Order: sequence, then structure tokens, then C-alpha cells
Amino acid sequence: MILELKPHVDAFAFIARLERMGFQAVRQSESTLSIVRGMDKKVLPELFTSLPEVAAVLPLKEKFKLASKAAKQKTVIQIKGKTIGGEELFVIAGPCSIESKEQMELCARMAFENGAQSLRGGAFKPRTSPYEFQGMGEEGLKILHDAAAHYNLVTISEVMDASQIDLVAKYTDILQIGARNMHNFTLLKELERVKNPILLKRGFAATYQDLLLAAEYIISGGNPNVILCERGIRTFETHTRNTLDLNAVPALKELTHLPIVVDPSHGTGRRSMVLPMARAAVAAGADGIMVEMHPDPDKAHTDGAQTIGPVLFEKMMKELNLIYKCLSSIDPSN
Ligand code: PEP
Ligand code: MN
Repeated sequence: MILELKPHVDAFAFIARLERMGFQAVRQSESTLSIVRGMDKKVLPELFTSLPEVAAVLPLKEKFKLASKAAKQKTVIQIKGKTIGGEELFVIAGPCSIESKEQMELCARMAFENGAQSLRGGAFKPRTSPYEFQGMGEEGLKILHDAAAHYNLVTISEVMDASQIDLVAKYTDILQIGARNMHNFTLLKELERVKNPILLKRGFAATYQDLLLAAEYIISGGNPNVILCERGIRTFETHTRNTLDLNAVPALKELTHLPIVVDPSHGTGRRSMVLPMARAAVAAGADGIMVEMHPDPDKAHTDGAQTIGPVLFEKMMKELNLIYKCLSSIDPSN
């Protein structure tokens, strides 16, 4: 349930009052609160309309209260002078796995020189086989941090387990929750420990509602800065690694205020398809793109087949910026 407050009501004092009544409320905007706990008892809206601070009570149709569009219009995340969900396209680029200092320095330079905002790299890798490269761990995180710091790039790396949260948060700006962990509710709850924005990837078989409920776990834990990531789902098609569901972009824009990033690398599994699907994602209204990029993709330890090299990356950045600019000159709501 959303409560719209009368003008000049002290929202913090009112939240404390609601707490004494057995409810937990979270501020959604200047004038709205959302009740996040206490609604399991059969509470009638009249209970709130009768309070002198309340102007209106708005029912919430969706199960995801805090992530819903009814709760808030737009989330814009500010980080290192860049914005996610704002007026610029946020491009995250870098290798699937951090492999060496040299590799990450080259990636950081490529990202910066071509106008990307963020450098990615996995230090803990969720590999299907236990015999494959598992990542460099803390040493890798230090390399990512140092390479990005040189160019003031925003860093992002995956957390696979709650025991890694503090370590990854120490070195990186944004924590990534991978597709395999989207349903790991214990891990999602543990994210309340940190203030870092969270990039939450859609599970292989997750619906939009599943994704938004996973986001709800993080937001209700007190971390409102969630970025959703469409990275493809499993379908009966075997030609591509996954099927990149670009319906997700306009659908999620209707359902939620959270920014949406598209990952055409995992979404296709094929290097040749990354650029066309990145173009399509921007045209569909994505707030950002995450691509796997490597100075020499054929030598990448992981996901080389879907990783683009310097030439393709440069071309992609030029084209995406053109498409993004073009979109701003038309009305994107049509
Ligand atoms: C990744 O980003 O390298 C990754 C493992 O992604 P996903 O969780 O989408 O498979
Ligand atoms: Mn990968």
C-alpha cells in the first residue's frame, strides 16, 4: 500500500508513528511512503485514511511493492560523476574474467578511450564445470580496482556467495548478482550489509515478476540502488547460448522505476551477434549495455566466443552513441 502524505507532513516522524502501530514504511518520494511490513494482518485502507497525515491511500496491484512504478517514477543512480538510469547511456565493458594486470589495463584504456563508463571483470566465476577456471579472487579484484581508478571508471564484479560480499564491496563500486543466483534469497537478503548499487541479472527461467521480486528482496533490505539486467533466457533454440528477450526492456519500463541494462554477450553467446543486439537494446530503450570485451578475445580464459575485441568495441561505441542521440530527438514514450 502507498500512502500519499499531506503537504508539510514530517515524513520521518510519521514513519516512526507507523512503526509504533506495527508497520514498517519506506520513503518513496518527497510525498509518498510505501508500507513494506505489517500488511499481512488483514489491514483495511481506512486505517490509514483516518490518519491526519495521509492525503490518499493507493492500493498496490503488484506483489513487488517497492520496485513497482506505482511506488516511484524513476531511479537514477549517481556514481563517480556518472549516472545510471539518467540522461546518458551507461556502458559497462570488460572481460568475462579478470586474468592479469596487463589485460585489465588494456581493457580499462579501451573502455575509457571509447567513452564507456564502467569496467567489468569477474574475480569469482560461476562455472558450470568445477574443472574450469574459477577466477583470480581478491588478487583479481585489486587488479580491477587499480586499472579502473586510473580512468575514474565505475567498477563491477560478481558476488557468488554471501561470504564474498564485503571483499567485493571493498574493491568495486557495483556488485553483480549473476543469473544463477537471482533466486538465492539468502544471498539477496545479505546485500543489506552494503550500500553499493547492485546489478541483478535475470535468471535463465525467471519471469519479469520473479526478477522484480528478487529486486524487492534487496530494496526492502534497505538498498534501493538496484539495476536490472536482461541477459537472455533459456528457450528451445540451440543456435544461440540464450535468447535475448528484448521485450523485457519496454515491459520492465512499464512495471518498474529501476534502470535496465542489457547484456547481449550472454544473451547471444556469439561474437557476431553482440553488436546488432546491442543496437537493438538501445533502440528498445535500455538505460545501459553490458558487453564482454577483451584485448584478444580468442585467448580469453572464459566466454571468448561471445567476447568482442578492440575493433568491434570501438565500432559498437560509436554506433550506440549515435542511436542513443537519435532516440533523444524522438519521443521515446511512443
Ligand atoms: C557474467 O556476467 O560473466 C556472468 C557469469 O553472467 P550470467 O550470470 O548472466 O551468466
Ligand atoms: Mn561471462
